[in-house]
Amino acid sequence: MKVKFLGAAGTVTGSSYILTSGSGTSILIDMGMFQGTQEIEKLNYLPYEYDCRMITDAVLTHAHLDHCGRLPVAVNKGFNGKIYMTPPTRDLTELSLLDSAQIAINDGKKILYDRGLAQRTIDRFKTVGYHEPFRAGDFKVTFRDAGHIVGSASLEIEDLQPDSEIRKIVFSGDLGNTPEDLVKPTEFFSEADAVVMESTYGDRLHPEEDAVTMLQEEINAIEWTDSTLLIPAFALERTQEILNMIMHLKRAGRVRQETPVYLDSPMAEKATMIYLSHLDMLNEHIHRDLEETGSPFGFPGLEVVHKRGHSMALHKHSGAKVIIAGSGMMTGGRIVSHAAFYLRDPNTRLMIVGYQGEGTLGRQLMEGAKEVVIENEVVSVRATITVTHALSSHADQDALLDWVGHIRGVRKLFLTHGEDSSRTALQQRIIKDLGISDVTLPVLNQEVTL
Ligand SMILES: [Zn+2]
Ligand SMILES: [Zn+2]
Repeated sequence: MKVKFLGAAGTVTGSSYILTSGSGTSILIDMGMFQGTQEIEKLNYLPYEYDCRMITDAVLTHAHLDHCGRLPVAVNKGFNGKIYMTPPTRDLTELSLLDSAQIAINDGKKILYDRGLAQRTIDRFKTVGYHEPFRAGDFKVTFRDAGHIVGSASLEIEDLQPDSEIRKIVFSGDLGNTPEDLVKPTEFFSEADAVVMESTYGDRLHPEEDAVTMLQEEINAIEWTDSTLLIPAFALERTQEILNMIMHLKRAGRVRQETPVYLDSPMAEKATMIYLSHLDMLNEHIHRDLEETGSPFGFPGLEVVHKRGHSMALHKHSGAKVIIAGSGMMTGGRIVSHAAFYLRDPNTRLMIVGYQGEGTLGRQLMEGAKEVVIENEVVSVRATITVTHALSSHADQDALLDWVGHIRGVRKLFLTHGEDSSRTALQQRIIKDLGISDVTLPVLNQEVTL
């Protein structure tokens, strides 16, 4: 068996692997977009180091763009197999691919693919549930719940025609921060010969913060004033978590019923509908909310903003308001115009609720920048910026160690999907605490024979 690392090798984004069986048959695992600094994003346009016509099938772990965003490139280069994923991942990936083609056109950026190519990619999707083994190329693949976002999967892959003693390999995908607000717990694996695992937070432990109280305090700080609270949020999972938290805060009287909350992201609205159509994949808390309130993501004062014009008109509304808008790292979407307008105002508050990649506007604000450039204009930052790490949907160092510690018989371990400081720290702890000595930090386009 061979594995080639075509992304997320020294970076967090761009996840993509080619796995080749002892028989010589190859499958693709994820093909995500590189996101972050211009330098990182340039990697999206490099020639793809593999003949896509030789790939039999593809398997997708989850719907985040850093895992699915270059699938249309593979189709454009001649991939014509099926792309396997869970049912929620199917719906969310369709939304993400069509939306990102649209964003690229609206922003006038050089585009990776258009909607037609996105649709041709979607036409190759095939759904399989958790725990239902299926065949992809010469491999038997089984999805387990990764507990990261709805539909997210870790993969157990068995080579049906092995050429060495390494037969079973596990790909973690992105591992959740169990217990999560919406999704079920991360599942474990009992044995594997080799493991490829993420290391986003490999050097950190999540703080014991109470994110609900922090959100309450942020809303309380603006709700008796004329100020605005901005919350940049990923359309998938984070927006639904925030909506669910505000629903509970309003029900408990911890924030005012009247305070308007604008959901200013057509994509997040559509994603929320998809969450509601896959309730069986969500945890018991959400089921209880549904029984008690009829809507886990709805509450008085919530207004969905559809048109761009309405979004811009919010700048003329006086009075307290909360605006939830994407993108989550403030690299595009409607949050950018709101940032350009509101960050100059010392009464504005901005709450960072998710991972912020290197070089993004969100990262600069999180690190305390006093001036930022937005749409070629210098903007002084007078707003109050707060950050919570408690809402992360990624496992921290202890949780990563616990996950891999459950797997017996690991001979080779590869750490991906992390900045180098994170994966080096995780590598050291794995060697010391678990006694797995063969821990590799692969580099981009490296191929390893197992
Ligand atoms: Zn993810
Ligand atoms: Zn990821």
